[in-house]
Amino acid sequence: MQTFRFRLTGAALAATAALVILTGCATDPTDPDHRADGSTTSIRSAADESFGVGGQVVTAEDGHIADSAPITVLADTPAIANLDADLRDAVTRASEAAANEGIEVLVNSGWRSKRYQQALLDQGVEEHGSLAEARRWVNTPQRSTHVVGRAVDLGAIDDVVWMQENGREFGLCQTYENESWHYELSTTTGGECPEMLADSSAG
Ligand SMILES: [Zn+2]
Repeated sequence: MQTFRFRLTGAALAATAALVILTGCATDPTDPDHRADGSTTSIRSAADESFGVGGQVVTAEDGHIADSAPITVLADTPAIANLDADLRDAVTRASEAAANEGIEVLVNSGWRSKRYQQALLDQGVEEHGSLAEARRWVNTPQRSTHVVGRAVDLGAIDDVVWMQENGREFGLCQTYENESWHYELSTTTGGECPEMLADSSAG
């Protein structure tokens, strides 16, 4: 299945390239001003750790992770604690393997409350100009796999590259062609990843 894997890797790299090109969508996960899912935050209160997103105030209780402080899968915060146990276990094992190669796997989004997801969508509509375009980057609360704890967004480009090469050994697969950072537990350990969807509006 070498050809199959190569094709997937090619698509994944293309998505990474798109990530750099689509500056309007603010998708560079290494840029602390921008979240990898294309959203941004603008209001932050150090006192109560609340954040303005899409006109709503969200907190760590909603699964918010500060843009400038991506976390490991061992962090004690709702974004991690509310993840599906099998996904969390897989990311933990992948993180251990990556650490052996000197790479720290960081997560900048995991579980999100419905209200946080809706705020991200509202913000996406504002940034992208239409619901249809926003839906290519941010799913609805009803459909988002983040809301049910079944997705993580990686926080650094090194993590993305490592996971593209090694994720499936832990059952972890990139879901969308345009989101090289978004991983779900969607195959068996060492199995083949399913075909990627073009973007989140397709799923
Ligand atoms: Zn995601």
